[in-house]
Amino acid sequence: MPIEFCKCGGMLAPKGKNVVACRSCGSEIKKSLAASITESREKKDIVVIEDNRPDLPSTEKQCPVCGNDRAYWWLIQTRSADEPPTQFFRCTNGKCKHTWREYK
Ligand SMILES: [Zn+2]
Ligand SMILES: [Zn+2]
Repeated sequence: MPIEFCKCGGMLAPKGKNVVACRSCGSEIKKSLAASITESREKKDIVVIEDNRPDLPSTEKQCPVCGNDRAYWWLIQTRSADEPPTQFFRCTNGKCKHTWREYK
């Protein structure tokens, strides 16, 4: 894991699963969701997201596979920074877990 630094210049140390804390000022920083998401070009450019991410927000969205009407969503900057991020959805149905993307 790379060493990161706080705005105050203090060293950040892991504290909990997705949180790092500054050793100097004590401020806690939540690691960005995107950092734990790995992109897989082999799987037709669909981003693979870890299972069991209860911190993802969900929204009313119909799954095109099973028809479930809720999906988790997140945004990822997949291309150059001047283009809008891609929105991803993942079916909340634990047996389906279909993941798909939608361009803004
Ligand atoms: Zn600090
Ligand atoms: Zn589904």
